[in-house]
Amino acid sequence: MAAKATDKTRTKFLLDEKDIPTKWYNIQADFKSPAPPVLHPGTGQPIGPQDLAPLFPMELIKQEVSRARWIEIPDEVRDILKLWRPSPLFRARRLEKALGTPARIYYKYEGVSPAGSHKPNTAVAQAYYNKKEKVTRLSTETGAGQWGSALSLACQLFGLQCKVYMVKVSYQQKPYRRIMMETWGAQVVASPSPDTQAGKKILEQDPNSPGSLGIAISEAVEDAATREDTKYSLGSVLNHVLMHQTIIGQEAKKQLEKADDEADIVIGCAGGGSNFAGLSFPFAADKLTGKRTKTRIIAVEPTACPSLTKGKYTYDFGDTVGLTPLVKMHTLGHGFVPAPLHAGGLRYHGMAPLVCKLYDEGVIEAMAVPQIATFQAAMQFARSEGIIPAPEAAHAIRVAIDEALRCKKEGKRRAILFNLSGHGHFDLGAYEAFLAGKLQDYEYPAAKIEEALRGVPQLKA
Ligand SMILES: *Cc1c(COP(=O)(O)O)cnc(C)c1O
Repeated sequence: MAAKATDKTRTKFLLDEKDIPTKWYNIQADFKSPAPPVLHPGTGQPIGPQDLAPLFPMELIKQEVSRARWIEIPDEVRDILKLWRPSPLFRARRLEKALGTPARIYYKYEGVSPAGSHKPNTAVAQAYYNKKEKVTRLSTETGAGQWGSALSLACQLFGLQCKVYMVKVSYQQKPYRRIMMETWGAQVVASPSPDTQAGKKILEQDPNSPGSLGIAISEAVEDAATREDTKYSLGSVLNHVLMHQTIIGQEAKKQLEKADDEADIVIGCAGGGSNFAGLSFPFAADKLTGKRTKTRIIAVEPTACPSLTKGKYTYDFGDTVGLTPLVKMHTLGHGFVPAPLHAGGLRYHGMAPLVCKLYDEGVIEAMAVPQIATFQAAMQFARSEGIIPAPEAAHAIRVAIDEALRCKKEGKRRAILFNLSGHGHFDLGAYEAFLAGKLQDYEYPAAKIEEALRGVPQLKA
């Protein structure tokens, strides 16, 4: 839509605590056909709630399969969300100026949470439901450390113990994330670890394995499955996780109303898909229901781990070892171990099934961007807007800048909204490497992906 001439100087669009959404939006309610079922790896048959009960509290299992459009957010969860929500929406005026673009660029900033990313939005909800069902300990994996710190915080606030399997490359590159988790009371080990059978098996094959999210998931799932007092918690990918994040997009819509504007393009980086979904699903709702169909919605991934743009849409395991149920998603093969990118949170072989379904149906688009170009975008953003972005979020910034430059070329005044999913204060090692000219691009690993895709399980029709 054309820019409205209401307020030419406003930079921040803020909401009150009472504007924190009271419900999560469940996009499954607006699907014309139901999402493909999750299958039992042994039988190939759809799994039921009882199959998941060793891993998750029943309330979250219900949310996972619910087709209700709105699910009430418990007051205890909203009370904690008030510590940092509603998060601000910024108009990136200085970046617009630096680019000389006629586009209006907005970003929703999720780095204001105590853990510095969007992840506490679901961590708090998950810890709450576990506590309510008398679970005393949670196990989880973490890539770059953001999810581990989010869950450590949430467990601390609800009095739960927390064990975190941290991908080894991040454990080594990011000691401060580990210390943060320990400050919030969690126990943290480098994955692959000798604490589980899955970890031991990988270490036997490759003692120098840099680890991956898939491997760490295997360890955390095994931990929960083999202990009575423990359940498992996942920071992305699952339906209920994406749903908990939809407060981001709901807030952003209200804030854009305050700006008297509407988004033409909505952008999020996508590792497992949760911050992307959190921002974009409330906008996708308007596409699915015919209310506003022309919005472009773009998921951005690294060229070194391009599950949407280069993966195969098929049933695969969520983890590396093959302990999880089979889910239909765009996958690079569960055995695929991505290059040690600095955007650790984007190093996952699969993608959230709900995001994949929307991509398959053409409701959303996907793009892949290389590492150096994302850091160039991050630098330009930091030098105009001030905030130093997480390397993951820089993928969204890259595409936002590219789209803004396209507006300039085409003389179009589009409104671009992206999710600044977190800050990069614990990623300064990556910035140091970039500034020293030591950052490298990783080729699209065609041969490795082809090999990993051969390992995807064959299902009988
Ligand atoms: C974890 C993380 C991501 C990637 O995870 P999604 O589930 O795809 O959102 C992106 N950005 C930040 C800051 C993260 O911490």
